[in-house]
Amino acid sequence: MDYTLIQRAAKDILNSKKTIAFTGAGISVESGIPDFRSAGGLWEKFDPEEYAHIYAFHSNPEKVWMMLKDMFSLIMEAKPNPAHIGLAELERMGYLSSVITQNVDGLHQAAGNHHVIEFHGTHRTLSCLKCSTTIDGTSLKMEDLPPRCSRCSSLLKPDVVFFGEPIPWEAQVSSLKESKSCTAVLVIGTSAVVYPAASIPVTAKERGATIIEINMEPTPLTNVISDYLILGSAGEIIPAIVEEVKRQR
Ligand code: NAD
Ligand code: ZN
Repeated sequence: MDYTLIQRAAKDILNSKKTIAFTGAGISVESGIPDFRSAGGLWEKFDPEEYAHIYAFHSNPEKVWMMLKDMFSLIMEAKPNPAHIGLAELERMGYLSSVITQNVDGLHQAAGNHHVIEFHGTHRTLSCLKCSTTIDGTSLKMEDLPPRCSRCSSLLKPDVVFFGEPIPWEAQVSSLKESKSCTAVLVIGTSAVVYPAASIPVTAKERGATIIEINMEPTPLTNVISDYLILGSAGEIIPAIVEEVKRQR
């Protein structure tokens, strides 16, 4: 971990009028939920390009529900890691306005962040594709898949955004507002290749915000949109930044 960059990030946060975080699957890897790119685990069994597409859900819901079952059981067991907890602490200290997340695992809320924009929806609820009845996903019986609507018996789909589906309207509006009004963005654990999500740091940058990237490896944002990249795991880097903010303030 490069401490000069940790100090720089803390300084940028302290000098910023409004800081937001933009997170991806990488922030939850240390909670036991594999991201799309890392080797091993869930996504070697299920190719996300194939299974996370809405056409796949329509054409073969049984198959897609097998993947969802595995992913949801990992999510149910997962707890926030030091990166999620660090972001919640930044919010409590008044240094973080919101978290825009591409994750559906709810771990930012579990860590204590209050203003979380779920850009790709949530695993917590399921909706009927026909009559729009919504049920609590946590009460789902895993033996009975794919789940069906109790009112009209049509297929239920988790309220997560599949490839090929639109972004929830409220999330679009609020994240655009946040990205246009912030002065710094912490971009954490995202490969930044899934659009329109990846346009959030680009919009912020166009308005002059400082883009601080935290990732295990460079991404398409690195050296183009990001002011700098702090290489390493979010679970180590975020708590180090929080400590440095406390020291410098
Ligand atoms: P991605 O899998 O494409 O990329 C993850 C990124 O995180 C990579 O750049 C990787 O280098 C980095 N990374 C991995 N471990 C890290 C760590 N410990 N610390 C810091 N960085 C780390 O994920 P994405 O960009 O979020 O796009 C994939 C899509 O799939 C998103 O919509 C995402 O929400 C969804 N997804 C969600 C979950 C979840 O809810 N936890 C899990 C898998 C995929
Ligand atoms: Zn229904």
